[in-house]
Amino acid sequence: MLDVQNIRKDFPILNRTVNGKPLIYFDNAATSQTPQQVIDVIVDYYTNYNANIHRGVHSLSQEATDAYEQARVKIQKHFNAKHSHEIIYTSGTTHGINLVANGFSSLLKKGDEIIVSALEHHSNIVPWQMLCERTGASLKVIPMNENGELILSEFDALLNDNTKLVFVNHISNALGTINPIEYIIEKAHQFGAAVLVDGAQSCPHIKPDVQALDVDFYVCSAHKLCGPTGVGTLYGKEAWLNKLPPYQGGGEMIAEVSFEKTTYAALPHKFEAGTPNICGGIAFGAAIDYMNNIGFDNIAQYEHDLLEYGTEQLLKIEGVKIYGTAKEKTSVISFNVGNIHPYDIGTILDKMGIAVRTGHHCAQPIMDFYNIPGTVRASFMFYNTKAEIDSFISALKKAIMMLS
Ligand code: PMP
Repeated sequence: MLDVQNIRKDFPILNRTVNGKPLIYFDNAATSQTPQQVIDVIVDYYTNYNANIHRGVHSLSQEATDAYEQARVKIQKHFNAKHSHEIIYTSGTTHGINLVANGFSSLLKKGDEIIVSALEHHSNIVPWQMLCERTGASLKVIPMNENGELILSEFDALLNDNTKLVFVNHISNALGTINPIEYIIEKAHQFGAAVLVDGAQSCPHIKPDVQALDVDFYVCSAHKLCGPTGVGTLYGKEAWLNKLPPYQGGGEMIAEVSFEKTTYAALPHKFEAGTPNICGGIAFGAAIDYMNNIGFDNIAQYEHDLLEYGTEQLLKIEGVKIYGTAKEKTSVISFNVGNIHPYDIGTILDKMGIAVRTGHHCAQPIMDFYNIPGTVRASFMFYNTKAEIDSFISALKKAIMMLS
């Protein structure tokens, strides 16, 4: 059981007001809030041991390097990766996906096929389209049904010996659908295709076991799981990471440089050119500690209750249509009310201190599927409460009255 009232004390931002009203933060799928424990780690870094890593002989540099590498091991353990050098620091999910897409430029040829799903965020579509343009490979799409679930029989039919890569998110940011990645990975492997899972939305709710999943690449962003922005991770199987060429050239990623020839550093540094987000990496480790202390099973159970309660309350309001009613779903509710534009609802809710997301959520193909411009999206984390949902529902009713 979660002690939510105590947990809320960890998040100073939850005490603020917006437009004179107590903040109700339901935009967690865009970015989560940061607990004091993580803020303290950031302040401690800049107060006491800010220095560049892997370079200096001096004490500060050593302390920063140690903390940064210890955080890498925390991330490794959290993902249950076999080796810490399979954990590549990135600036976030988008960076991780682009790193892999760029690496496959030299491994794909005309006639090869890439499969993505209809439920992807733009950052798991556009890099693969760019990869297809560079290589002549073609992009196939696993379609979805009205409930926002992938149609697996169609996925099976898309697989063939030309399939080289499959990309799918673990959880859809626009609808909350939890995708059956175990099935997708197993099937793709039967055809020798590599699988990248976009874990941006799953990592705040599920602890992924990359070895049990046998996934080839798994990416996420720290800011979705109570960490800072501008840092994330790419997990890659050692053999794949050794096969892919470096993404960016520069300092830190080399073994030897001369004007005739440069050799690259071993993993993970081969993919970590330049000065990284050192403080961010250390704080990412602290965020993982924080989430694990609460416990992912507790988090899943509590958020599921919030999802059920929120869905029930919303459906009592006339004209509400919820998009994405998959059986396996996380705490995201995407909805519209009659013909009211989602932006108008979002603007009025903000006047009442309530933060929701409106628009296409960087997933325009999903909006096209439902033939709508966008939705209002309320997404919950473990620090939200049923009382907040009640306030949201009465504010929404007021907004609907004003807009009808
Ligand atoms: N994929 C999904 C499913 C997401 O929800 C997001 C963030 N909204 C991203 C990718 C991109 O993450 P970032 O902006 O942190 O790189």
